[in-house]
Amino acid sequence: MKAYRLGPLLADSGDILAKLNQGITVITGNQRLAHVLHQHFDQAAVAGDAKPWLTPDILPWNSWLQRLWEEALISGAFSEFGRLLTPYQERAIWQEMIASDLSFQPMSRTAFQVQKAWQLLQEWCLPQNESIFQYNDDSRLFWKWQSFFQRICRQKGWLSIACLPDQLRHCFAREALQAPNELVLTGFDELTPQQSVLLETLDRLGCKVQWLQLKPKNSQIARITSADNRQEAILMARWVRQKLEHHPEAQIGIVVPELSSHREVVTHALDEILIPQIFHPGHSNQERPYNVSLGKSLGAFPLITVTLKLLELFKPTISLQDVSLLLHSPFIAGWEQESSARALLDVRLRETGEPRVSLDTLHYHASKTNRSYACAVLEKKFDMLRTWLQTCPRKDHPGQWVQHFAQLLKTVGWLEGYRLSSDEYQTVEAWHALLAELATLDWVTGEISWSAALSQLGQMTGERIFQPQTGVAPVQVLGPLEAHGMQFDHLWIMGLHDGVWPPSPQPNPFIPLPLQRKNELPHSSEQRELSVTRRLTQRIITSADEVIVSYPQRNGEEALRPSPMIKDFPSLAVESLLVSKIVSWRDTVHRSAQLSEWLHDPAPSLAQTTTSGGSRIFKLQAACPFRAFAELRLGAGPLGGIQIGLNAMARGNLLHRIMEKVWDRLDSHEQLVALPDTQLSTLVLDQINAAITEIAPHYPQTFTRRFRAMEADRLHRQVLSWLDLEKNRLPFRVIEKEKKYEWVVGTLNIQLKVDRIDEIADGCRLIIDYKTGEAKASQWFGDRPDEPQLPLYSLISTENLAGMAFAQVRAGQMAFSGVTIEEGILPGVKSHEKLPQTREIGDWPQVLAHWRAILERLGDSFCRGEAAVDPKQYPATCTYCTLQPLCRINELTLLDEADAEAGDKGNES
Ligand code: SF4
Repeated sequence: MKAYRLGPLLADSGDILAKLNQGITVITGNQRLAHVLHQHFDQAAVAGDAKPWLTPDILPWNSWLQRLWEEALISGAFSEFGRLLTPYQERAIWQEMIASDLSFQPMSRTAFQVQKAWQLLQEWCLPQNESIFQYNDDSRLFWKWQSFFQRICRQKGWLSIACLPDQLRHCFAREALQAPNELVLTGFDELTPQQSVLLETLDRLGCKVQWLQLKPKNSQIARITSADNRQEAILMARWVRQKLEHHPEAQIGIVVPELSSHREVVTHALDEILIPQIFHPGHSNQERPYNVSLGKSLGAFPLITVTLKLLELFKPTISLQDVSLLLHSPFIAGWEQESSARALLDVRLRETGEPRVSLDTLHYHASKTNRSYACAVLEKKFDMLRTWLQTCPRKDHPGQWVQHFAQLLKTVGWLEGYRLSSDEYQTVEAWHALLAELATLDWVTGEISWSAALSQLGQMTGERIFQPQTGVAPVQVLGPLEAHGMQFDHLWIMGLHDGVWPPSPQPNPFIPLPLQRKNELPHSSEQRELSVTRRLTQRIITSADEVIVSYPQRNGEEALRPSPMIKDFPSLAVESLLVSKIVSWRDTVHRSAQLSEWLHDPAPSLAQTTTSGGSRIFKLQAACPFRAFAELRLGAGPLGGIQIGLNAMARGNLLHRIMEKVWDRLDSHEQLVALPDTQLSTLVLDQINAAITEIAPHYPQTFTRRFRAMEADRLHRQVLSWLDLEKNRLPFRVIEKEKKYEWVVGTLNIQLKVDRIDEIADGCRLIIDYKTGEAKASQWFGDRPDEPQLPLYSLISTENLAGMAFAQVRAGQMAFSGVTIEEGILPGVKSHEKLPQTREIGDWPQVLAHWRAILERLGDSFCRGEAAVDPKQYPATCTYCTLQPLCRINELTLLDEADAEAGDKGNES
């Protein structure tokens, strides 16, 4: 059935207010228009003489239906229905039905789409004929599910809200409900067949139904082109400011077709230009002169995001990312006194290298009273939570889960001592309302698990669009549909490029496409989108005296064209548009910048020359003195990353420990080659298992049984492969393993841990350092060596040193890389006479002396406080350094480029 058009009558707002004054019910096409009409009515009443006045009867279509349902229920007209299902209850029924259908693999939005299809089926009075739904697999499934849904509803006496208009129509027709005398509809672009039939029935029963549309204005329209949507939004905001400066009483509308995607850009531009002071610390809650029609999903509000994460504490583990969010949240008791300690606790947890954290682990670290990251309040709350969780059932009804959720939040001190802002107060109210809705799922689901209840709640918070109420504002930011029934003095419609206006069709996948197109269902075809967009555009551009339409020319790299709906409007140059010249907050800050001369200003010298950092001091000082200073003296550095499985450091430590254990048992090359392969294999596997047993308690979430077996297998193959290489060496004895040294390099006292020292046949020594990544001896040379670790170790034993080498223990790339005093000491390693870098320096003692000089210079400069921002090779050295915000190398580079450009210009002139 096609949409019946009652035929709107043109009216002005005075006509609608007159109807309201007569006590006639006005039904609006959306919630927002009902709100606006209430405001207009109140303003008119305040301005007039009639005081006090009655509350006008204005309500959106669905609320009107709901009211009729209640009336019908009270009058006994609906004896066959016990309950009207809420949308969430209906969704839960669809979800359960779809999940139990083993012939189908549902996706996250399947239930939503199926519910929407059911709604369309009713609203557009589509033929309920099974043969039509044999169109494809999806429509066949839908037919099966909807038949089942109808059967359940009949058995249980439930009424779907999508069927309510039809049932009300029957009630009116058999006079079980009394038809009103008169009804006014406003803010509708079209009526669905289901709405039309209901209204026709009322009409036949003597109800005077009028569909009013505001008379179009004789608008002045201009088209503006902007470079991108940010520039478009700023220009719009300046234009709004100019209007408000000259006409503070003006009603201004901003219409944005894709408001949900552009909301942040638009509101940020309005804040920046209309209320720049909002960016001052402590002013973020300032009242705004604009109102946004479209709220955000409730789950996107920080308060609710944190609340949902808190409820996840019921799970055995939660992700480190979520823990981090909780630790930085002010909504949990004790945050004011513990915020610093909680930040340090976050750092500590990241250092553990586990991507997921249990409540026990959280409690354990928070309770370390002798540590900077100890959090007494949190520890107490977590302790109480652990006790309470033991008493909590595994399965329960949704209504009971609401109680348990409330108890969990109370136990962890949710919002304890926190002062809610007005917006947050409303957010909490919306949260409680949603919990009440969750509790009503008791009717439709049985007992469910905590995670199922939480998943329902998460889905509901994601779908519930919420907007805290604000006072009357002169500027309204709206989507095209919400702009219906509203008129303005000035209106800006932005973002009108051909990619979104008209939008692309999005037919419902569960209703046969030919059926949708034949009945002209919403979003079913390009023709339908085009005609609706044309009608919407015409309505919106005639709703104000002055109208600006605009579009951005680019979206990132993508070039955009104006929508065909606006391309014929007269174009206006940006320079000709009257806009406020106010300097934005950002520009004010930039313009107030004062350059001061930068002097060489070293950091204070090290107070004590004994310091931690080991060989990393030399490595960082060589790469960039500022990095060495910032990381090793200031303690600046990135937060630990979150990684699945063992991180690189843990893998390295594990390999070192295994090698240490293996050589504890083998001792020498002679024993290695003498041991039969099977025994060697068993020996290595035993040492691997022993090392894993030592390390596993530090990574309880990572070392599952399966991971442990996989890791042991990988290491077994890797270590045996390495030992094959060692078998090909000349005889040696491993005389030191993981030994610590205290050493003086120039003015610096440091501690070093050498992985391994071997003694070869002539009594000389080889220093060996294990690496699991790629390692090259070529990185040891130059005034600023990339890897000074082994040259540094060479200082420990220069007398009888025969060479040093990285032992690269890496699958498929097992190799030694280093330098020796003579050829043949280590497989694949050249002597100093053959290696180009050492040959240039001189004989072996000269090579060692050369390294000593370089390392002493680096150590001395670190001690003296040399901390210049001087990367060895920009930008390569900076690629994996995270200190850019601190050293501001990027700004220095920009200044250098500006200087060079200025120099070039000077030379040209
Ligand atoms: S980013 Fe570059 S210049 Fe800055 S500290 Fe790191 S290495 Fe040095």
